[in-house]
Amino acid sequence: YAALRAAFPADLDATAIDATEPGGQPLRYSWRDLERASAMIANLLESLELPPASRIAVQVEKSVEAVLLYLATLRAGHVFLPLNTAYQSAEIGYFVGNAEPAVVVCSPANHGWVSKIAFQAGTRYVFTLGEDRSGTLLERTSHCSDQHTPVQRAADDLAAILYTSGTTGRSKGAMLSHGNLLSNARVLKDYWGWQDGDVLLHALPIFHVHGLFVALHGALLNGSKMLWMAKFDPKAAIAKLPEATVFMGVPTLYVRMLAEPALTKEAVRNMRLFISGSAPLLIETFKDWQARTGHTILERYGMSETAMLTSNPYRAEDGERRGGTVGFPLPGVELRVVDDAGQAVPQGEIGGIQVRGPNVFQGYWRMPEKTAEEFTADGFFKTGDVGRVDAAGYVTIVGRSKDLIISGGYNVYPAEIEGFLNEMPGVAESAVVGVPHPDFGEVGVAVLIGKPGAALDGEALLAALKQQLANFKIPKRAFVVDSLPRNTMGKVQKNLLREQHKGLFA
Ligand code: ATP
Ligand code: MG
Repeated sequence: YAALRAAFPADLDATAIDATEPGGQPLRYSWRDLERASAMIANLLESLELPPASRIAVQVEKSVEAVLLYLATLRAGHVFLPLNTAYQSAEIGYFVGNAEPAVVVCSPANHGWVSKIAFQAGTRYVFTLGEDRSGTLLERTSHCSDQHTPVQRAADDLAAILYTSGTTGRSKGAMLSHGNLLSNARVLKDYWGWQDGDVLLHALPIFHVHGLFVALHGALLNGSKMLWMAKFDPKAAIAKLPEATVFMGVPTLYVRMLAEPALTKEAVRNMRLFISGSAPLLIETFKDWQARTGHTILERYGMSETAMLTSNPYRAEDGERRGGTVGFPLPGVELRVVDDAGQAVPQGEIGGIQVRGPNVFQGYWRMPEKTAEEFTADGFFKTGDVGRVDAAGYVTIVGRSKDLIISGGYNVYPAEIEGFLNEMPGVAESAVVGVPHPDFGEVGVAVLIGKPGAALDGEALLAALKQQLANFKIPKRAFVVDSLPRNTMGKVQKNLLREQHKGLFA
């Protein structure tokens, strides 16, 4: 917090966050408001006399007050633990049981069931925080002093536990230190050329590394104003773009804005930078965005365990932004691609991505064996992503190791097949997953989404694919559906597709 606070502008009465809703009353927070309100909440947390580094678990709707609670947790020296708002009782039971938070903050509407779970798990305090500033947290805070000196914390001390998105299985708690977060935020401030006058349109959820760290830290560390959207809405986002210079989104946000005729060059006239990440940006979206707005989306790659790892260049002198790639390892990040035996593969070849750097986390919360498994003897973290690095140094992600299909002994990379399918007429999007097969061990199954009005013939597309790719790569079946299962970060849940189709050849 002290590092963020040092970046606040001299004029503390300037607007830090403008959370005015379309058609609503003006709702602005000055830098002084952030300082004082987070001091008050920090004082409340300190008055609870919790052991140092207590977990403060938070499952609330996105609001500026939730950000203040995050800042207060840092100030009080505790560990922030945000939880996806979509989680229901079984999930909250797991997270609260696993993390044993001293404090749980939940939406007023969920207080009944959340508090029951929390108290059973030994939580001492349950507060509520509504999106409209209602709830017991702020009621209790109103009696607290607005002066607070941040508790001293070392770079290695924990600042947050972020549960991974659970795309490949049960979520794991990634333990991130103050040093992890600050080093990454500083590198991004420089690499993305944050500058005076920048205004961030903040449209992402704040329970995830993208919205909470990349976006929020970026603006705060630059002393930049944020335009705050509690929920993403493509029309409202486009209406705010003329006031903004920086936007960060997951690929689905870009797709949804492209579907709006209001997205024009005029709407983005003041924009400096569009950033995408958290899931692969389709090359088509990248190109469509360029054609429509004149802006080249900067794609970057990261994860809960490491914050940001690679980025396409911002400055032209560092190179072009190449669609379909995630750019170069960020300054300070070492990245290597290895084979199954852990040996570096020849340049350009596909293998597992491993990383090392000041941004890499401290391990999985209460999973020492899992942590040990995922680090190499020389301190590299095995990301679980599969990719390659080309001669110019650009990193391309071809998928996750868990999604790799081994068919008749051959490796099949779903992203490669999906790339070809997506290029076919009428195909909007596709997902290829491996399912068990008695002869081949595994075979691919393609799940396809058509463009509006297109009548797709899955089997005909597979026949056409045979003209382009080796037979062992061709999915054995194709299904045309209306939509792919996605989690709230827009990631395709391939585990659900595998589960759904696992009996096809059994
Ligand atoms: P879990 O680890 O629980 O299965 P998860 O890996 O989806 O879930 P996150 O930490 O939220 O949880 O996501 C990180 C992953 O997102 C990366 O490992 C990578 O697979 C994917 N990802 C992030 N950015 C990109 C990108 N630009 N292109 C492709 N994939 C990306
Ligand atoms: Mg992961």
